Amino acid sequence: MCGIIGFTGLKQAAPILLEGLARMEYRGYDSAGIAVVSSDPPRALQLAKVSGKVAGLFEKTQNGAAFPGTCGIGHTRWATHGAPTETNAHPHVSMHGMFAVNHNGIIENFVPLKQELLAKGYTFKSETDTEVVAQLLEDNYEGDFQKAVEKVLSMIEGSYAFAIVCRDDPDTLFAVKKNSPLILGKGEGFNLFASDVTALVEHTREVVYMEDGQYAKVTPDSIELFAEDGSPLPLVTSHVTLSISAAEKGGYEHFMMKEMMEQPEAVERTISPRIKDGEIVLDDFSLTREQLLGFRKIMITACGSAYYAGLAGKYAIERLCGLPVDVQIASELRYSDTPIDDRCLLIVLSQSGETLDTIAAVKECKAKGATVLAIVNVVESALTKLADSVLYTWAGPEVAVATTKGYTTQLAVLYLFAVYAAKVLGRLDGEAYASYIRELQQLPEAVRASLKLDCDMENMAQYFKDAQHVFYLGRNTDSALAMEGALKFKEISYIHAEAYAAGELKHGTIALIEPGTPVVSLCTNEALIEKSLSNIIEVKARGAVVTAVVPAGVPVSEEIRGYADRCVEVPALRDIFASIAAVVPLQLLAYHVAKLRGCSIDKPKNLAKSVTVE
Ligand code: GLU
Repeated sequence: MCGIIGFTGLKQAAPILLEGLARMEYRGYDSAGIAVVSSDPPRALQLAKVSGKVAGLFEKTQNGAAFPGTCGIGHTRWATHGAPTETNAHPHVSMHGMFAVNHNGIIENFVPLKQELLAKGYTFKSETDTEVVAQLLEDNYEGDFQKAVEKVLSMIEGSYAFAIVCRDDPDTLFAVKKNSPLILGKGEGFNLFASDVTALVEHTREVVYMEDGQYAKVTPDSIELFAEDGSPLPLVTSHVTLSISAAEKGGYEHFMMKEMMEQPEAVERTISPRIKDGEIVLDDFSLTREQLLGFRKIMITACGSAYYAGLAGKYAIERLCGLPVDVQIASELRYSDTPIDDRCLLIVLSQSGETLDTIAAVKECKAKGATVLAIVNVVESALTKLADSVLYTWAGPEVAVATTKGYTTQLAVLYLFAVYAAKVLGRLDGEAYASYIRELQQLPEAVRASLKLDCDMENMAQYFKDAQHVFYLGRNTDSALAMEGALKFKEISYIHAEAYAAGELKHGTIALIEPGTPVVSLCTNEALIEKSLSNIIEVKARGAVVTAVVPAGVPVSEEIRGYADRCVEVPALRDIFASIAAVVPLQLLAYHVAKLRGCSIDKPKNLAKSVTVE
């Protein structure tokens, strides 16, 4: 987590750093800071830090005007070591003011390093692991910035991206990457770098995606890239086509609403180009038919909503491909003894492609022989480098911390994969295949139809806004959907929400149902609606107030209507694809409840978007 930026050039650095931080604030927003080399003698590092949002930094620096220098670094933090105070905010400056450092990640051996520095007389201001790096740079500095950086890199362990500035080398920055993203941007008369390409596109479209272990020396007119062993590397540039507006709110009050509304187009972008003349064509999928035929098991791993997308994908893949699918949370899988071998296909999901636990799980499974298929949104992210094959979700930049289009496009790719693999495995005849293809093509429209529920969900939000607990129930794919619905609800409204496979409720949790407890019952699976109805009747008997999500135009939905307090009708889809449209009212409900409660919707407390720590 956290966003890092560095700029050096002929222009004033601070406004560029602040704008970049504002674009990357979704990555961490408990505190922020910038350090700029002063333009006038005596040369010094000018520093501004705030606890809280980047807006405070704009204010503190008069929108950057108070910092006239042309070389500097910026950071927006998601605290791991030490509370989100101004003192713990980055940049961290070495004791005699020679170096300032921004860091994304964790220095795992910071305790012994700090003890050695304390013994040498260094004093520390913050509780962070990062400050050790600033002090180490000063301790190892003999007049050569690069040598000091190289020495310190050989001493530290952990995961990191750094932006480093040195008072005595006023135009030069170092960018270092290991397990956290960093992208270099080439300009005319300036160069810059950032954790996310959205912070660069306003200034340049020529970028270099740094790889793990690399570090770069960045000056206004040159970028030199080095491998971990110090050997120089060629700069391989990519051209970014992303529009700036894709990373802006575009008139919506929140990024989350904008991103929910973008879902039909995002799902369309994910699906349509991959269906040509009635066939699924996965251009960017490099596993051969022979490889697919050789797999005996599929393991899906991910964290958070991506894990819930994986759970939904399991039903589609098992139904269509007849292969056993195990879904495990990445932070568990990485430390488990689950048998994995070279006959296992590991499907890994991550919006950012940089989720640390997911990356670690992939490395473990690869070492055991698994073939890795990554389903990722961010182009060129870390997971794409580890995977044997990549299917991008093409959702476009997702800024709100609570994922919406990231999740629905993950579902879309999983559905595509399930149908594609079933065909390759010889499990779908021509007619069945054609009917699945037709339904896949209808999914963007189904999502669009679900978005029309916005007003209904806004009205319904008032019944939830004062709840203490909300329960989400569902069977089969609806149990996976219930989990995503409950997560969306709790992460932005701060109301406790729990999801249960509906049949499990009576094994304990029903004790928590009291008169007035809101229950959301997901009933998209026609074949199981009767069973869901029994569960609705059970919770109603204990006083629950039930909101049921049912497929539109299906007679059996009418039965539910007779018992539920409220019904939300979603487009009727085949059960294994239903979640993609049925999740939309759940997203909208969470949004409107959070809004009624005055919560910070795009940046919920304690969270950050891409989780690059354990
Ligand atoms: N470990 C550092 C800290 O707690 C960096 C956290 C981050 O990635 O924002 O300050």
